Amino acid sequence: MSAVVSVDDVSVSYGEVAALRGITANVQDGEIVGVIGPNGAGKTTLVETISGFHDYAGHVEYRGEEVGDASPSDLVEAGLVHCTESRDLFGHLSVEDNLELGAYRQQDGVDDRLDFVYDLFPTLAERADQNARTMSGGEQQMLAIGRALMGDPDVLILDEPTLGLAPVILQDISDGLDTIRDSGVTVLLAEQNVTFTMNHADRVYLLENGTIEREGDPETLRGDEYIRTAYLGG
Ligand code: ATP
Repeated sequence: MSAVVSVDDVSVSYGEVAALRGITANVQDGEIVGVIGPNGAGKTTLVETISGFHDYAGHVEYRGEEVGDASPSDLVEAGLVHCTESRDLFGHLSVEDNLELGAYRQQDGVDDRLDFVYDLFPTLAERADQNARTMSGGEQQMLAIGRALMGDPDVLILDEPTLGLAPVILQDISDGLDTIRDSGVTVLLAEQNVTFTMNHADRVYLLENGTIEREGDPETLRGDEYIRTAYLGG
């Protein structure tokens, strides 16, 4: 395995607010890497920085290239695709139109990817003609993930994909994530849902107040007394 994403001593501020303070982390090819932490810990800022959305001090590399030297759209073309927390769907367009827009930079193999997404989340196939804004929150989340997959990612960044979802939908997203990983896509998952993350990730970083407090595989972290008490209910 080799590092596809490498973050070295990275700091990001919003004016006076230091959101990331000297973060060092990496994502290896084929892994699911989780970033957990409470509200405001810096999870979104970290994944957005990796996707080229913020100025930073330190180094962030995607496949050995400094992210700060590329535009976010160059990074998408290079296979780094970000599914944001806000989902960014086109509400007045159909499910299928939203999916096709996800492929706007990568048209090769688009029909196969559409089939993959419809197999992954059959609800989307059933509702292909429905306007995105009339879908439930969970269906919209599936659509947002599906649209990101239409960009043919090598690395898929998911920011809070389980936020506000009912348990039945959570299971669909959970199954979907397993299938995505089995298809060879590397995943970076920012999540407040610690149990969900621990169940899927190969390695997990715990962010608190802009710094990494713990890192390791889920089994090791489940044995960590601080993680157990503060994040796993004792
Ligand atoms: P959440 O789980 O609530 O989304 P998070 O772990 O993703 O939180 P961030 O959204 O990265 O955390 O926020 C990290 C810190 O940066 C917080 O203190 C937040 O208030 C601050 N912050 C985030 N975005 C901005 C912004 N646009 N302007 C100013 N401060 C910001």
